[in-house]
Formats: sequence, structure tokens, C-alpha cells
Amino acid sequence: MIKINEHYLKLQESYLFSNIAKKVSAFQKLNPGRQIIKLGIGDVTRALPDACITAFHKAVDEMSDDLSFMGYGPEQGYEFLREAVSQNDYKNQGADISPDEIFISDGAKCDAGNIQEIFAIDTKIAITDPVYPVYLDSNVMAGRTGDYYNGRYKGITYLESTMENGFLPKLPDEHVELIYLCFPNNPTGATISKKELKKWVDYARENKSLILYDAAYEAFIRDNELPKSIYEIEGAKEVAIEFRSFSKTAGFTGTRCAFTVVPKECKAYDLHGNAHDLHSIWNRRHCTKFNGVSYPVQRAAEAVYSNLGKKQVKELTDYYLKNAALIKQEITNLGFSCAGGDNSPYIWIFGNRDSWDFFDMLLEKAGVVCTPGAGFGRCGEGFIRLSAFNSYENVQKAMLRIKEAL
Ligand code: PLP
Repeated sequence: MIKINEHYLKLQESYLFSNIAKKVSAFQKLNPGRQIIKLGIGDVTRALPDACITAFHKAVDEMSDDLSFMGYGPEQGYEFLREAVSQNDYKNQGADISPDEIFISDGAKCDAGNIQEIFAIDTKIAITDPVYPVYLDSNVMAGRTGDYYNGRYKGITYLESTMENGFLPKLPDEHVELIYLCFPNNPTGATISKKELKKWVDYARENKSLILYDAAYEAFIRDNELPKSIYEIEGAKEVAIEFRSFSKTAGFTGTRCAFTVVPKECKAYDLHGNAHDLHSIWNRRHCTKFNGVSYPVQRAAEAVYSNLGKKQVKELTDYYLKNAALIKQEITNLGFSCAGGDNSPYIWIFGNRDSWDFFDMLLEKAGVVCTPGAGFGRCGEGFIRLSAFNSYENVQKAMLRIKEAL
């Protein structure tokens, strides 16, 4: 008899966004003429930058000629892209990350979900609440948690991000070994200062723990005082793995390209306390289970770092930040407290009511889709998330409709 992985049965019935999609499609069926404005799921709406498209086309043409055709590439990514990432995203920002510490992949979601495989099953995990669900669900699937009870999985240390602590969780009281952090944060839009981030790095160094730092939204940081990478913090190379993505940076959500940085100094320990190099273990895993991102996509991603690419990416992210500023301003004018929206495409709004009720109300009365905060964890109850990923015109329209609805 074939047996199921019972840990999957602990998962909550459906992934947040599929629930939303079901509600939206039911509403659309009942109201066929109504234009729905989606400020829910964090998917970009604007085309790839021209610089990327040009490089993409050129690389596709190369595939049409035997002489320039590319077959299987290096699993870790082509040198040209790893070099460009190392130089532009790290060395130029004062973080000493070498090209061979960068693993190109088809998504930060896959990497953030897969990375837990290389750690022991009894690893003590700390996850923020609210949270991007992938960190939590991937650990549930692996069997690192107990059952779900009262909005939480047993065995996880939840780091609460609340209005009271400015959405910056405090260090855990109990000892934890693997810590998931994400800044600028999805869903709260909160950012972290170097001083605050250093506390986490120091904690990890003192406790021989590891931080998984998701910087998928770093391209939205405009405040030069805020760290774009955890490696801007002294000592972080020994205790942190960083995830980045071209998805929100350059509109690659459908094109797929991202990378994970595993510094050579990062260690984890065996049962006898011997240190092992995470870089070679992740490399082993990556080479076994992943066959690389396609050549044209990597060439398109490389173009992000050309002079033209940098300018166009800045324009793209500025566009969404302008949307975010409008949402934040209108929501504040309506008397709501909110976080995010300054160095982040997300605005986290305290609705002071059940967050699914708020979702239903905005859908039914304003035809606007948000994401209910409760879907990101218990601390998200009472909140909704609005995303800036839409056209400016649609954001204006949505804010007008919300004003009328309220
Ligand atoms: N990390 C965070 C925090 C995200 O919000 C998302 C997407 O919404 C991702 C990672 C996924 O990125 P990718 O498109 O590279 O898989």
C-alpha cells in the first residue's frame, strides 16, 4: 500500500492566494460587468525592461545557430550572470560576495522552500508572524512541526510582528537555530535598520544559528541608511544565507530568475559538533535536483546590470513606489494606521475588523481585491495588505472606490 507523507495532511486546507482567487472568480460570475481591480497578489503588471528584452531576443537568436547554441548550462548559473550579481549587488555596495558564492535559480520561492532540506529534522525554527507562507509550509511538509492548533503549528517559534513593535520582532526568548527574516517585509512592508539587523546577526553568531534572509524586495529601498543586503552587517557572512529575485526587481515573475547567496564561511554542525560547509552542501543539492535557468533568461537577467538596465529597473520600481505612496496617503487620509509603502511595494493596513470581512467588503463594495492579513498568520488578523503592483490609473481608481465604499 502506497503511503502518503502525513505531514502534508497538517497543512491548512488551501494556499492563501487560491482561496482569494476562488472568491474573486465567484464574485466575477455574479457580477459579470464589474471591473475588478487587483491589489492582492504581489504580481507585477509592467513589461520587462527594454534592456532585458533586447538581451533576451539576442540570446534566443543564438539558440537558433549550431555555432552559438547552448545546451545544459552550469547548474549554479553562467559565470557572466554570477559575475554581474557579485559586482553590482554586493561588491559595489561594500559586501564581499564572490561569484562562486552565488547560485542562480528559477525563483526565490523555490530556494526559500527547498533550503530547509539541508538542515536536520529537529532543527529549531523561528518564523515571523505574519509571514510569507512558503517558509512555514515547507517546514510543515518536511515534518519539522506538530499539528496546527489555534492558528499556529506546534514546534515553531513565532516571532511576532505587531503594531506595538513596529513590525520588527524581538529576539526569541528560547534558543532557535534557523531564523527566517524578510526585509523589506512581505506582507507588512516593514524595513529593518542596520542596527536592528546586527542584533540578529550577533544572536546567530552567539548561538551558532543561521539566518535565512529574504531580500526579494531590496530594489524598492530608497533610504540609503537601510541595508539592502544582510552582508552589509559585520559578521553576517558566517551566519546568513540570502535570497534575491529578479521577479519584483525587474518584472521577472513570469520569466523566472533569482539567486541565493551561500557564503563559504557559513557552517552547520553534525551530531558530534563538527562544522560543515553549507556552500558545498547546497552546491551538491543544487547540482542533483536543479538543471539551471535557461540561457536566454540568464542573458535577460544580466541586462538588468547594464547602464540602460539599471536606469530602466529604477524607473520600473519608482513607478510602483509612486503607486505605493498614493495608497499610503489615501489610506492614511481615511484614518487607518498602516505600515510599509515607503521602501516597499506593500501597504499593511490595520482595518480594526476581521481581515476576511474586510476583504469581502472591499471586493463587494469597491470591486478591489486585497489580501487578508490573517492569511499570513495569527498576527495578521485585523490587517489587510494592499500591493502597489498595478497601473497608476487603476490604483487611483481603486482608492477612489475604497473612499466611496467606506
Ligand atoms: N520571497 C518573498 C518574500 C516573496 O514575497 C516572493 C514572491 O511574492 C518570493 C520570495 C518569490 O520570488 P520568486 O518569484 O523569485 O520565486
